Amino acid sequence: MNPKTYYIVTLGCQMNERDSQTIAGILDGLDFYPADSPEEARILIINTCSVRQKPDEKAFSRLGEWRLLKEQDPDRIIAVCGCTSQVATEEVCRRVPYADIVMGPRSLGHFRDAVLQRLEAPARQPAVFTDNAELIPEALPARRSRGVSAFVNITYGCDNYCAYCVVPYARGPEVSRVPAEIIAESRGVLADGYKEITLLGQNVNSYGRDLQPPMEFAKLLLEVGTIYGLERLRFTTSHPKDLSDRVLEIMATVPTICEHLHLPVQAGDDEVLGRMGRGYTYKLFARIIASAREYMPSISISTDLMVGFPGETEAQFQNTLKAVEQIRFDQAFMFKYNDRPGTRAAEMPDKVPEDEKQRRLLELVGLQNEIGRDLNQATVGSVFEVLVEGPDPKSAGCMRGRSRQNKIMIFPGSDGLAGKLVEVRATEGFLWGHKAELVRIVE
Ligand code: SF4
Repeated sequence: MNPKTYYIVTLGCQMNERDSQTIAGILDGLDFYPADSPEEARILIINTCSVRQKPDEKAFSRLGEWRLLKEQDPDRIIAVCGCTSQVATEEVCRRVPYADIVMGPRSLGHFRDAVLQRLEAPARQPAVFTDNAELIPEALPARRSRGVSAFVNITYGCDNYCAYCVVPYARGPEVSRVPAEIIAESRGVLADGYKEITLLGQNVNSYGRDLQPPMEFAKLLLEVGTIYGLERLRFTTSHPKDLSDRVLEIMATVPTICEHLHLPVQAGDDEVLGRMGRGYTYKLFARIIASAREYMPSISISTDLMVGFPGETEAQFQNTLKAVEQIRFDQAFMFKYNDRPGTRAAEMPDKVPEDEKQRRLLELVGLQNEIGRDLNQATVGSVFEVLVEGPDPKSAGCMRGRSRQNKIMIFPGSDGLAGKLVEVRATEGFLWGHKAELVRIVE
């Protein structure tokens, strides 16, 4: 074990990825540096996710492996951070009694002191930090992943309480960061050499309602999108009930904002959407997509879809399939519903049997994959602007990047293209994106 090193495992969403960058930044500030393996590290951190059952299980299984490391060397510090620590604190403390720190996402402001305390005095039981009413302090340091793209949080938490979702309990009520802080952080990442910014929030479209004076997300998009030196701006996640026409208009007029919208529909049936508490109908969702395509004919649309929500009938599932056929999403993240403790849906009757959920998922995935592939094959021959991330790990002599539509593009090219904007012509279409050939370097 190297006494000045740390190792972080991140599960779940981009918010967690960003939180892990903050944890890494705090540890860097304490003169620790990243280890290549958990065996080597003095401080082991897992940033947990409780949105679904799988990542929860993954976290506990990883923590089981770390138990041996802690037994071998009790000087090690184990920190269990993230959503599971917040919503299942007792379970974490019971199943991981050898943890030193158990910390919810809103308590990251205490991470530095918690580590310092543990470095000074060994723990008999985990120190717990789970006050969800806390405000995450501004100006926490961050060690961002290398590359061309950086995450910038604009809101923390969520007020929507969709029936199946644990996030509002895990991440607390929605709080918007003030625009000046967001802009200062954005300028900072551009000065550090990043070319693309992704604004993060559970529901970016409700940004600013809690500010004094209130501010619309569209205005923030305009302000960040016109920062000098920015090449590309993305944002996620959007919520259909709060996505305004003005946001689409700004997307269409500010050149840095990419033509990609991740808009979770979840289901194509109004009764199911109502029981989920999503606050929109399928008709409204379809209208937003039509409007987005009118503003930006080349826009790509991705979504989240859930099958087997409690009480979902075969006919209601068929409505979701119809919606997928009508909208023709470029990409979808598709899941089976699973009970999450503490949510309204977990208490709902008429649970769909596991084998039926599995059948529905397979049918949905089959349909969506065919559509995604067809859409990419239909654009073979078109020219796309790509921000080059670096060499493609799977194809020798090829570079990899993303189009403005957030599709992966792989094309023959040299390492020197990394970080540059280029134009490529798509030569083959796949589910994940395109193989392509270089047309020209834009800058
Ligand atoms: S909007 Fe709904 S699904 Fe998204 S984080 Fe909030 S409660 Fe969860």
